[in-house]
Amino acid sequence: MLSSAPPASPGLGAGTSTSLAQFQALELAWSRLKSGSPPPPAPPFVVTDPSLPPADGRVHDVAVAGGTLGIVYALSLLSSSPELDVCVIEAAPRIAGREQEWNVSDGELATVLEVLERARALLPAGGTPARAVVTTRFPGCRAGFKNEETAGPLLADPASNSYFPADPSEPSGVGYECFVPAVLNVGVSPANLLAECRDLFLSLGGALREGKRIREVRSPPAGKEATPLLVALSDSSPPADGGAPAADELRARLLLDCMGNASPLVRQVRASLGERPDGICVVVGTCASGYDPERNGSGDIIYTNRPIKSDADSGSLQYFWESFPVSTTPGDPGVGGSGKKTTYMFAYLDADGYRPSLTDIFEDYWKELTVFQKAMSVRKNAPFQPDPTFVNRLLAVNFEAMNELGPSVMMPFMQDVVRPGGLLKALLGTFAKDPAFTPQIILHVGLPNLVDWLGHVAAMFLYAAASKLSEGEGGYAGSAKERFLRQTQLDAWKYGSGEDFKFD
Ligand SMILES: Cc1cc2nc3c(=O)[nH]c(=O)nc-3n(C[C@H](O)[C@H](O)[C@H](O)COP(=O)(O)OP(=O)(O)OC[C@H]3O[C@@H](n4cnc5c(N)ncnc54)[C@H](O)[C@@H]3O)c2cc1C
Repeated sequence: MLSSAPPASPGLGAGTSTSLAQFQALELAWSRLKSGSPPPPAPPFVVTDPSLPPADGRVHDVAVAGGTLGIVYALSLLSSSPELDVCVIEAAPRIAGREQEWNVSDGELATVLEVLERARALLPAGGTPARAVVTTRFPGCRAGFKNEETAGPLLADPASNSYFPADPSEPSGVGYECFVPAVLNVGVSPANLLAECRDLFLSLGGALREGKRIREVRSPPAGKEATPLLVALSDSSPPADGGAPAADELRARLLLDCMGNASPLVRQVRASLGERPDGICVVVGTCASGYDPERNGSGDIIYTNRPIKSDADSGSLQYFWESFPVSTTPGDPGVGGSGKKTTYMFAYLDADGYRPSLTDIFEDYWKELTVFQKAMSVRKNAPFQPDPTFVNRLLAVNFEAMNELGPSVMMPFMQDVVRPGGLLKALLGTFAKDPAFTPQIILHVGLPNLVDWLGHVAAMFLYAAASKLSEGEGGYAGSAKERFLRQTQLDAWKYGSGEDFKFD
């Protein structure tokens, strides 16, 4: 099936690897990671060069490395400080992102729309064509944690929609479902958004180097910071005669890494620490048409309908599902979808050698596609093997508690922002609903991990307090460097405690 997949999109960002060859390359990387063998050595990306000469030509204030979300950052910089000389370097022949929509929430989209608006305000009206950035909009998503698929949605029957229904005559232990409005319910066209940003960026005088891969960055030694960085580039595609790609370079005062999760800069830092990830999230999925449009009017943000799957060879996995309608009519929510849907199945697991291959997980995907399911990490040799319903019971009760606590707890959580107050309320609510489960959770997590985690929670409370106390702090005295360091401290407190989350 993969060999007949449509050709990959012209962009190179995350989610553009849709061909069989790219899948096989990913399989190889996964099997190397599981085997514990270090990745093939790569030349260092950033090197300190004591003999770096001063620049004798144009020096960009900021070089943005990578132009998927990088072009949005670059436009934001240029539209708020038009005097800056900003250059974006993108390895793909043209900034394009992926073909498939990005799902975001309105709050996240608003940040990007503000940037577009600010940029347009600096240009003569009608200078660049406005494109449809939002190509899909639907009311929201279902979250559900069930040990088996039910004949109909549990939501339709409030009396039995609980892991522990009040009526003892009802079957218990099936699960819980809730509907979370306005989360990941906006489908953004990467092609349209990035084309819009690209046009505006160029109109504001930004510099763009497409089809150029950054090979290396040479930086001056300490004490010579005034010497600009040297960013060495090469053409992404080798010349037709098979010779070496043409080399090129530019100078910049600052390099902003927007090269995504495959960033060679991050890879260098990780390699220097000698660390391998202790947990990963494997995602497989498809975007397909042919679904019933009448039943394609909302999404699934996290959904299970199976207990933990145990296998003697590949350990235990809890599969989760996520799905979003695609290309529904913007501004016409709830009238049913287009019949097109993005569907992912994912599992959280450690990267131990016995874990299944991506091909095996994809095989499970095809088998389970009609019976949505999602996976969480359960170690093969853990001293305590939980009940197969462990994950569903934990999440069903936890979501039931969060849903009852309301949007102030649910909404930040669903948008990956952890706030200590909300976390504490959700934990207490979960404990109150299912106190007998707490010993099992502690046994599964392990006391050392629990103590370590509680330390992080305590730190989040301290960060939240520090962020509140420093609110409105202005006019911090000191050199530019001291002011910058102070600002990074304020940011750490704010973002580290979820204080950046904007409630509607
Ligand atoms: C399957 C999947 C589904 C996802 N779905 C969503 C979603 O629905 N909504 C959402 O918000 N997010 C989603 N994401 C997250 C997604 O990764 C980001 O939203 C987005 O792609 C991140 O953009 P980025 O620019 O940070 O990184 P990337 O998309 O990885 O882009 C990095 C860019 O850097 C360039 N680059 C890399 N190395 C170099 C180099 N040496 N020189 C020059 N250029 C270089 C690449 O060509 C690329 O354009 C999904 C990710 C995956 C994998």
